[in-house]
Amino acid sequence: MSSSPFPIASGPLGRRQSRRAVIRYGEREVAVGGGAPVMVQSMTNTDTADAIGTAIQIKDLARAGSEVVRITVNSPEAAAAVPAIREQLDRMGVDVPLVGDFHYNGHTLLNDYPDCAKALSKYRINPGNVGKGAKRDSQFAQMIEAACRYDKPVRIGVNWGSLDQALLARIMDENAGRAEPWPAQAVMYEALVTSAIENAQRAEELGLAGDKIILSCKVSGVQDLIAVYRELARRCDYPLHLGLTEAGMGSKGIVASTAALSVLLQEGIGDTIRISLTPEPGGDRTREVIVGQEILQTMGLRKFTPMVIACPGCGRTTSTVFQDLADKIQTYLREQMPQWKGVYPGVESMNVAVMGCIVNGPGESKHANIGISLPGTGESPAAPVFIDGEKRMTLRGERIAEEFQTIVLDYVQTHYGKQTAV
Ligand code: SF4
Repeated sequence: MSSSPFPIASGPLGRRQSRRAVIRYGEREVAVGGGAPVMVQSMTNTDTADAIGTAIQIKDLARAGSEVVRITVNSPEAAAAVPAIREQLDRMGVDVPLVGDFHYNGHTLLNDYPDCAKALSKYRINPGNVGKGAKRDSQFAQMIEAACRYDKPVRIGVNWGSLDQALLARIMDENAGRAEPWPAQAVMYEALVTSAIENAQRAEELGLAGDKIILSCKVSGVQDLIAVYRELARRCDYPLHLGLTEAGMGSKGIVASTAALSVLLQEGIGDTIRISLTPEPGGDRTREVIVGQEILQTMGLRKFTPMVIACPGCGRTTSTVFQDLADKIQTYLREQMPQWKGVYPGVESMNVAVMGCIVNGPGESKHANIGISLPGTGESPAAPVFIDGEKRMTLRGERIAEEFQTIVLDYVQTHYGKQTAV
């Protein structure tokens, strides 16, 4: 038999080998790297000093699927609020680990607010914002010593918007001494990668275990991010946090993040991701979690929630019924997942097709676990429903959406249920 040119179930080209860091809170352990599933995280945009408001947003992010949540700890008031946030989350039954984001005054806050230092499960240190001149090394050391004292992992998170200027100057000097100096962009990349790796090595010299260090080098350009992470991945074996910083708003932020991350993930680079979307006015912060999950799920790296396959619609669809149904089913499935994932193991693998007409409707519906093909222009007003590839029933009338939802729930209960629905 001749071999097919198509690799079956082709996916990422194998994961980069890295150390494994573990982020802990209580019984909860979230592994990063070392072959662990690529983890999705997010960050609040509330004032951390507002403990209740921050705890509510963390609960929402965790409920949407964020596996750790980062909060800024930027002032004495914020640091003082961290233990209260943790207690409020405990009362709400939310055990998601919290990460403290420190800039400029982290050394002071971690020293002056030990309950904050203890309540956090990980610290993020930006080596470009630790301090200047002689103070820089001692302030960085104080933060690493706090991590050692409280046994916390650290992300050394470099960002090109706040790159260590002394280090950049050094790299530029080195470049000027080259027989053939590198272009300015390459010098910037080198400074980012060097900052991450040298600070990680410094943290290890100060006593932080190598398996308690995660690195990131965030930039806002897609090609820049790919170039920087390829080199970072080549030069170290620390787990890597991926994210396009300042990705932007709406579709631009989603597309740019997806373009950058999918190239790297396909190469096996990246152990945890965050999608840095700017929320639209009144927008929901949980969108960044959903986008992160959808990147991983559509790439075949993880499964989080049943997927809805829907055609784009065209001139053959007669009304918005088809769009409404696709939207309702997708929303329904996502809203059920926090409860379903404990009760119906495997349901996250389910596919549901919602199609607009007979052209591709029956065919696509047969490939899904459950599919519905709505009537297009000129077709009889009937919607055949396919279950596991077989046409089982036809829906008609005004309540097609509700009836289809009931069919989906029945399928979930009978195919994935280890107990009946509550
Ligand atoms: S399935 Fe029908 S309605 Fe949907 S895009 Fe194709 S032709 Fe148009």
